[in-house]
Amino acid sequence: MHDVTRTQKFMVTRAEGVWLWDDSGDRYLDGTASLWYCNVGHGRTEIADAVHQQMTRLDAYTVYGDFANGPALELGERLTAHAPVVDPRVILTCGGGESIDTAAKLARRYWGVTGHPGKTHLISRTGGYHGLHGFGSSIIGMERFRAGFGPLIEDVSVIPHDSVEALEAEILRVGPENVAAFFAEPVIGAGGVYPPPGPEYFGAVAEVCRRHGVLFVVDSVICGFARMGTWFGIERYGVRPDMIVFAKGVSSGYLPLGGVIVSGEVAEPFWNRPGNPFLHGTTYAGHPACCAAGMANLDILEREDLFTVSLEIEAQLDAAVRQLADHPMVGEVRAGTGVMAAVELSSEALDERGITTAEVFLEARSRGVILRPVPRALLVSPPLIITWEQIEHLVGTLRSALDAVSAAHDGAQPG
Ligand code: PMP
Repeated sequence: MHDVTRTQKFMVTRAEGVWLWDDSGDRYLDGTASLWYCNVGHGRTEIADAVHQQMTRLDAYTVYGDFANGPALELGERLTAHAPVVDPRVILTCGGGESIDTAAKLARRYWGVTGHPGKTHLISRTGGYHGLHGFGSSIIGMERFRAGFGPLIEDVSVIPHDSVEALEAEILRVGPENVAAFFAEPVIGAGGVYPPPGPEYFGAVAEVCRRHGVLFVVDSVICGFARMGTWFGIERYGVRPDMIVFAKGVSSGYLPLGGVIVSGEVAEPFWNRPGNPFLHGTTYAGHPACCAAGMANLDILEREDLFTVSLEIEAQLDAAVRQLADHPMVGEVRAGTGVMAAVELSSEALDERGITTAEVFLEARSRGVILRPVPRALLVSPPLIITWEQIEHLVGTLRSALDAVSAAHDGAQPG
């Protein structure tokens, strides 16, 4: 905030497809789909029209108790029809973090009402990002997001993201009778784009969770809605989790929307019994205008077959960013699983020369390409309508930004 308030703001005034414009009329390639969410690209008037129509019929009404509305029910049907979850049910929310908290509370209550009140412990992975609500801040796999808030939620632990053995060891250390759920992204996104260590990883994870009676919660907030070529990303690994958390691409961000898909088994204690053992819900859950935006967005994903198109883009992006691997400023390139990539700067650049990813981000932006800086890497996650020429433009601009930042640091060196 300090930096933002001191400098001039970057005003985004208009967006169309993969492009956005600032208040000087300069054009930029949106290399990050805003914050990982604009899967269908900007300026889709059919989504705006669907929202307008919905708002003029029914602006909004709560879905508390037995209240319901058409768009919320239809969206739920559509999501459950595609979810790789056994006998799926859906809870709608307004975003990712809210959905994570919903899933975490539901996991704990599930065990509570089925006679295992001790099962409260939640396990997540290094680099995992699960939003910044109460539970999300507590299970996040990046220490810097947890510090400074006083005691957060107890009974949580973080394991290395690349080890099934570490998961099982942690479950045994805590005691399976105390562990409620394990949270994992199909590909770690905000933590730096880390695909699973191998194609067999998630199958093994699911097996360990099942064997020890731990609910397996997949966070598909980034990976869903065609970014990995499927509805929820995790399909690539052939497993059926107990819950899937989604947001972002479900509406491509045109309006805030998210939710949790829950297996029938986990839903059953709440579904088929009197009373209300899960006192949880929010004002805007099932908002009809947001659900209308979501459905218009799903129409586009299906009609333009962005599920298939994105697999081609995945390969193209992989090939293009790997060309940067030999750049002296680059330490590692991670890509090739989903339409996302990380270009990590070398430790020579970061630690010896003191170059920051923010410098590269600003340099690339001044050259017309938006990337996302995290502490050690520049992240790329374009809309799923990007062309090969635009990918080349993105990577070429990143290369020249790296050159320019490197040259500026050379110039600044004494002697
Ligand atoms: N989970 C993942 C994997 C995410 O990437 C994010 C947001 N970047 C969230 C959860 C939180 O979503 P929101 O910001 O909508 O709360």
